[in-house]
Amino acid sequence: MLARDVETRPAPACARCSHYWVTHQPATPHGCRMFGILSGRLPSMEIRMATGRDCEAFEERPAPSARPRGA
Ligand code: SF4
Repeated sequence: MLARDVETRPAPACARCSHYWVTHQPATPHGCRMFGILSGRLPSMEIRMATGRDCEAFEERPAPSARPRGA
């Protein structure tokens, strides 16, 4: 994959990833448990900017109806 391909594709959708969480901190509302990221940008954008590659740890978050109660 060429660097320009990474730059033009959308970053992985953290909001749909099971590792993503909302921190409720105004300066760093986006969190990633997998990489320990707290950021004002989406964690996948932080990874792309730091490594030049897309995050490969994306895991689709289960649909709400598929989650057990209380999870
Ligand atoms: S694992 Fe990757 S896609 Fe999932 S929240 Fe973290 S940076 Fe985003």
